[in-house]
Amino acid sequence: MRYSGWRIIREALTGNRGWAPVWRDPEPKSAYDVVIIGGGGHGLATAYYLASVHGLRDVAVLEKGYLGGGSVGRNTTIVRANYYLPGNSEFYSHSLKLWEGLERELNYNVMHSQRGLINLFHSDGQRDAFARRGNAMVNQGDDAILLDREGVRELLPYLDFGQVRFPIRGGLYHPRGGTARHDAVAWGYARGADARGVDLIQNCEVTGIDVEGGGVTGVQTTRGPIRARKVGIVTAGRSGQVAAMAGLRLPIESHVLQAFVTEGLKPVIDHVVSFGMGHFYISQSDKGGLVFGGDLDFHASYAARGNLPMAEHVMEAAMTLMPVIGKARVLRSWGGIMDMTPDGSPIIDRTPVGGLYIDCGWCYGGFKAVPASGFAFAHLLAQDRPHPTAEAFRLDRFATGRGLMDEEGTGAQHNLH
Ligand SMILES: Cc1cc2nc3c(=O)[nH]c(=O)nc-3n(C[C@H](O)[C@H](O)[C@H](O)COP(=O)(O)OP(=O)(O)OC[C@H]3O[C@@H](n4cnc5c(N)ncnc54)[C@H](O)[C@@H]3O)c2cc1C
Repeated sequence: MRYSGWRIIREALTGNRGWAPVWRDPEPKSAYDVVIIGGGGHGLATAYYLASVHGLRDVAVLEKGYLGGGSVGRNTTIVRANYYLPGNSEFYSHSLKLWEGLERELNYNVMHSQRGLINLFHSDGQRDAFARRGNAMVNQGDDAILLDREGVRELLPYLDFGQVRFPIRGGLYHPRGGTARHDAVAWGYARGADARGVDLIQNCEVTGIDVEGGGVTGVQTTRGPIRARKVGIVTAGRSGQVAAMAGLRLPIESHVLQAFVTEGLKPVIDHVVSFGMGHFYISQSDKGGLVFGGDLDFHASYAARGNLPMAEHVMEAAMTLMPVIGKARVLRSWGGIMDMTPDGSPIIDRTPVGGLYIDCGWCYGGFKAVPASGFAFAHLLAQDRPHPTAEAFRLDRFATGRGLMDEEGTGAQHNLH
């Protein structure tokens, strides 16, 4: 069924009886060409591009819960292409271009809103670093404007420009950055994959990976064994546990990231804003809630829920940047599990087990990567060679030390990226 404005009017006039379920609920078959483990954003996008670009339709996505119930439905929805290092820069640039055509491609409203992203700076050193980053972005073909203090004040008059500890000296403005509706991205890719024959199987946890003679032969699941020629692990925060089923030890630590939303308010924040002196960032949803978050929890955990010390830390940063937020009431907070690599950059690669592939290490920035990651992982699964935009995301860089991409310059400490 194609969606359109006319369709909505027709359904409204005929009692909304013509809508069909957006995807089927198939029983798992005993074998597939390709099995994708994980029905989050990356798994669903991979399945969609396997079918739409490479014509591979004997594909199943196995999801232990419901589609989109992981971090793809828990993030703060920021989409940007403001990376500095070669390897990351071209990949995220490609992703933003895919975002710009995504609604038309999927015939689905993902509410992509290019409202602009502003990263604030507070010292001369930070200004220099942001100028360098902005030049790298422009060099890559993306957009960046260095704003001075008055330029920031014009766009964001509600910030506290009087505070002396972290004075706002300016910001790096990325006009094509913005937000998208996270669940809709999962649903849109799921609908597109299902329509092309991919089996999306929910409540199907993978409990084992079958390996014979150094190659993968299938998976064990809570709904029975399934044979497969190729298996892709796309389980984000659970990647370490799932890869261990095939005897692999990944260079990943899982940490919790928390977010918060206030009651609905009239429009006050038109952009996405991030505070350069604390890991705090904020935007306003279309419903009016102020959506914000901050640092990762410092200890490793698989608990997809937040805790009060981190809530206090984020609220302090919020009040420092924009005291006006103190008047808003927080409605909800939640947490998601982040798959943190030692250099803060992702992995899209084959594994040492034949026929077993992995797409993980998205840290706290994997939502904006969903289109390009799905595109590149589908290419790798279908053609057995990396897509040119993702050649740098090799698994062996952590063993050899060659080709590390440490955007933050924080060294090999997972939780600091
Ligand atoms: C609070 C928060 C804020 C964030 N903000 C942003 C942001 O603003 N911008 C941005 O770009 N990124 C952001 N992120 C990061 C982003 O959400 C993640 O990097 C990305 O969603 C991870 O990829 P995914 O969607 O495939 O993961 P998920 O949605 O977690 O998908 C993985 C799936 O695998 C399934 N699974 C796990 N184990 C098994 C198994 N054994 N068998 C079957 N299925 C299994 C899980 O149930 C899950 O559905 C944020 C994350 C959080 C938590």
